[in-house]
Amino acid sequence: MQIKLWGVRGSLPSPTTNTEYSRKIQRIIEHAIQAGLDSSSDIQQFINTLPDHLKYVYGGNTTCVSVRSNSGKIYVIDCGSGIRLLGYHLMKGDCGKGRGIVDIFMTHYHWDHIQGLPFFTPLYIKGNILRFYSPYKDQKKYLADQMRAPYFPATFEGTESTKEYVLLDARARKPLQLEDDLVVDLFPLKHPGGSFAYRFKQAGKTFIFATDSEFTGEIFENGHDAVYDFFQFADLLVIDSQYTLDESFMKFDWGHTSYTMAVNCGLRWKVKNLVLTHHEPAYMDEKLHENYVAAIEHGENCTNETTKIHIATEGMLFKL
Ligand SMILES: [Zn+2]
Ligand SMILES: [Zn+2]
Repeated sequence: MQIKLWGVRGSLPSPTTNTEYSRKIQRIIEHAIQAGLDSSSDIQQFINTLPDHLKYVYGGNTTCVSVRSNSGKIYVIDCGSGIRLLGYHLMKGDCGKGRGIVDIFMTHYHWDHIQGLPFFTPLYIKGNILRFYSPYKDQKKYLADQMRAPYFPATFEGTESTKEYVLLDARARKPLQLEDDLVVDLFPLKHPGGSFAYRFKQAGKTFIFATDSEFTGEIFENGHDAVYDFFQFADLLVIDSQYTLDESFMKFDWGHTSYTMAVNCGLRWKVKNLVLTHHEPAYMDEKLHENYVAAIEHGENCTNETTKIHIATEGMLFKL
């Protein structure tokens, strides 16, 4: 499987501001002076030495992830604003010829997880099939409601693609067979109005996507075997980590997790790669980088030897 992150921001799309851009330039020039950069042929090498928050932007688009199976089929999780970019990519293939089939798994219908759908070009192409999977029986209405006058000029029902809906049973523990060797199942998460984690398994590898969710210490207590059964030993877990620990206390019951708790989860569940996502829109890249460094330090203080911690960055690709 190949997993690509198209949107990693929580709650609201958050483009880089001019203030942030200026600060980045200033810091980069300071680094260049310190490094004694004096030749254009050394620029790339110099860029490689920069800290991540100066080398990249973490990204302003809201949640969207693609999973490319070993057979080359594309599965999508959520329709945040990142799905616009995925749409451009898919239009270069079968979707551009009206022969695309796109399977889309919905975690829930908060606005930041559906707002990109009206800008997903394959939606408008006759012949494409968009198949939505969700445990919410009113999913068609939830998707369509944002595309009505006066909010949007085109209606969801009026778009040219064919839409299909698959109702998932959240209580059934039987995975859904997507391909001969590819299965997916889901797990309910603590979030206002509910949300679901998805777990894809193929060729002995496991990818879990778990946002939006408020993970708290009580899930490590006895009687939560189902949590361990679902999350343990994942090769890749992309997890909600919107807050700092202090913020998570102030925003108790808001449905998101601190990076400290997200690291605790990754370590307890012995996941190989833990990716912190659903970044707080108020945080500039410098702050996100600070949180990331603190998350790694927290992991080291917990004598972490099994889990590699990453910070979600738009365009990031994982191969399992
Ligand atoms: Zn969200
Ligand atoms: Zn949400």
